[in-house]
Amino acid sequence: MNSYEQQAKKRFGQHFLHDRGVIERMLRALNLSPKDRVVEIGPGPGALTFPLLERLPQLDVVEIDRDVIAWWQQQPQAQGKLTIHALDALKLDVQSLRGDSEPLRIVGNLPYNISTPLLFHLLEQGSHIRDMLFMLQKEVVDRITAAPDSNDYGRLSVMIQYFCETSYLMKVGPGAFNPPPKVDSAVVYLKPWINLPYPAKHLPSFSHLVAQAFAQRRKTLRNTLKGLITAEQMESLGIDPTRRAETLAVKDFVNLANLLS
Ligand code: SAH
Repeated sequence: MNSYEQQAKKRFGQHFLHDRGVIERMLRALNLSPKDRVVEIGPGPGALTFPLLERLPQLDVVEIDRDVIAWWQQQPQAQGKLTIHALDALKLDVQSLRGDSEPLRIVGNLPYNISTPLLFHLLEQGSHIRDMLFMLQKEVVDRITAAPDSNDYGRLSVMIQYFCETSYLMKVGPGAFNPPPKVDSAVVYLKPWINLPYPAKHLPSFSHLVAQAFAQRRKTLRNTLKGLITAEQMESLGIDPTRRAETLAVKDFVNLANLLS
């Protein structure tokens, strides 16, 4: 195998994974079947891509860096198996990539600078996605998977958990990457709900209410939601208006938002 000789590029959030143990655990968590339709975001020099190519008859990758793309076009292991989508993952059209195949399995050691917008971009197209396994900044994974009444629970937890089931898989230290990032990383598994457990009548209203409730997380709901929802309306749902946003479950936010529309 040719190894990739270019310097990692900061602007593309490149931190190349080299820890075999971490790669193995991610592959085990995926539990691939050759029939799976897998898409990798940001293959870089292929820490995950090569083992995926060994296990699958075909693989799609989405990559923005022209040097990485040109390098992959030279790789014998990629010939006839790898489809390279040379674009910004934030512009990925999941539905057209899926076509009439099974819902996609999306994996990646994501560029941390775009991870939150990318998650929302993908979750908006969640009906075309079977599941996702991502390496992210640990702090973001802590927030994604947090339960009510914890410090990490906030807007990101509620919005992501609205769309999918989340599991924290493992912490990964900076030494697993080259160059090492300044922060800890973690692997998260996300599985979009096939039927949303608590569907909001109007997604933008729900999203607005969650943002508003957490904008000042120390304040009571009566204060933060003033002008949107009255204390009486909260009480009618069994929600004490002196509670704070961080004590509410996703279901409570949906019930509150459904009063708005
Ligand atoms: N998967 C590899 C590389 C991770 S680094 C490994 O684990 O070693 C992040 C990768 O995402 C790089 O290949 C980078 O070029 C790519 N990338 C960065 N921004 C991107 C974007 N907006 N869309 C698609 N790929 C991107």
